[in-house]
Amino acid sequence: MRVDAVTLFPGMIDVPLSESIVGRARQEGFLELGFSNPRDFTEDRRRTVDDKPYGGGTGMVMMAEPVYRALKKVRKKDSYVILLTPKGRRFDQKLARTLAKKKHLVFICGHYEGIDERITPLADLELSIGDYVLTGGEPAAVTVIDAMTRLIPGVLRKEDATVNETFTEGLMEAPHYTRPAVWRGKKVPAELLSGNHGLIAGWRRAQSEALTGKTRPELARGKRTPVRRAKAVKK
Ligand code: SAM
Repeated sequence: MRVDAVTLFPGMIDVPLSESIVGRARQEGFLELGFSNPRDFTEDRRRTVDDKPYGGGTGMVMMAEPVYRALKKVRKKDSYVILLTPKGRRFDQKLARTLAKKKHLVFICGHYEGIDERITPLADLELSIGDYVLTGGEPAAVTVIDAMTRLIPGVLRKEDATVNETFTEGLMEAPHYTRPAVWRGKKVPAELLSGNHGLIAGWRRAQSEALTGKTRPELARGKRTPVRRAKAVKK
């Protein structure tokens, strides 16, 4: 998959996405990441990319023309263009799955007060990563690219790692434990040590339901599949 980012600060995306699993995915060719900087498409000596907002107000607005040219450089026929903005549709795991199947994504990252509104119709999707305001679209692009890259088949060595995880079924994942079985007096739940696959699956399901109901009740309400309660194991 190819991803391009239209950004004034490529390093804010390139550096964090050079590490760990996404960094490896790039090295192995699962993800090709490129950048197009609006500053490279300016014509004045100072390479100006922003100006004061019409109508007054604080801050600077990114000018349409350099962003337009930077986008034009990377956009192809089958590109899917995403404008990152706190006003957009909220990003979630379902959308990460959809995006992971696209051939070419282009992220437009705003900075300062944002981008001249006349750029908005050029995007296929306005996307927000949550109800808060970042300094720029770059950390949002990192978040979306990270979530999506790990879903590209072959990126995670064990593909089933993404099957039961949080949000896949509208539920939070059950807690994980690893060795030792007793750590500073705290025991691993007996169900997980039982070796009984049915019991373990039931325990995990019940934990997922309980956790989702506690921290994200709106997800739990949307859940249609009945809970299979796990039989308790003597601790
Ligand atoms: N003045 C804008 C407003 O109130 O809606 C906020 C601009 S913000 C400081 C600068 C840029 O950061 C935005 O143009 C957008 O690209 C990005 N950004 C900020 N918060 C975001 C979020 N929650 N999701 C996606 N992008 C975000």
